[in-house]
Amino acid sequence: MTRTEAPYLAWIDLETTGVDAHQDPILEIGLIVTESLAPFSPLTKRQIVVRPEGDSWTHRFSPKVLEMRLTNGLLADVFAEGCPIGEADEELAAILSDIGKPHDFVLAGSGVAHFDRRFIDAQLPRLSKMLRYYTVDVGILRRSLAAINLSSVVEAAEPVGNFGATKAHRGLDDIEGHLGEMRFYAERLAIAAVPSLPLEP
Ligand SMILES: [Mg+2]
Repeated sequence: MTRTEAPYLAWIDLETTGVDAHQDPILEIGLIVTESLAPFSPLTKRQIVVRPEGDSWTHRFSPKVLEMRLTNGLLADVFAEGCPIGEADEELAAILSDIGKPHDFVLAGSGVAHFDRRFIDAQLPRLSKMLRYYTVDVGILRRSLAAINLSSVVEAAEPVGNFGATKAHRGLDDIEGHLGEMRFYAERLAIAAVPSLPLEP
């Protein structure tokens, strides 16, 4: 089987009102399903804007995040076309079910291991059931490369990865950046790969 032992990666990017998975509602979900190995050929993509219940959520933004949500058009889209979170959950689980079985999908993206996973488990239970317990997280790879003195590789990835100040903070745009960054590392680090040495001569 493959490195990830599952046939597909489910690249997910969530936009929320804040960082508390139980208090901050999800506003947007981007999904791109790809093959599990580089170059990560895409199978399907979807972006869903969510309208949280009530209006207390509108007070949860920090000033900086509120400005970002107003500038990139997400808040306008939430009011214009947002659907209930339960509908979004059902649709995303159905998209994955058309492609594979529960646990055929590894959650992938940037920061998904510590951020998006918590929100998915708390607010998207049907989608959560389709995912394996582990993740493929390019944010962890980025920081790990820097930690082993390969920050020059990370800096070279920034224009394609778009993980700096120019990040869109919209679901699908962010995922395209995460995919671009992962593909860049796959190509750049391939030259360092050597066949395994035998244990005995
Ligand atoms: Mg994002």
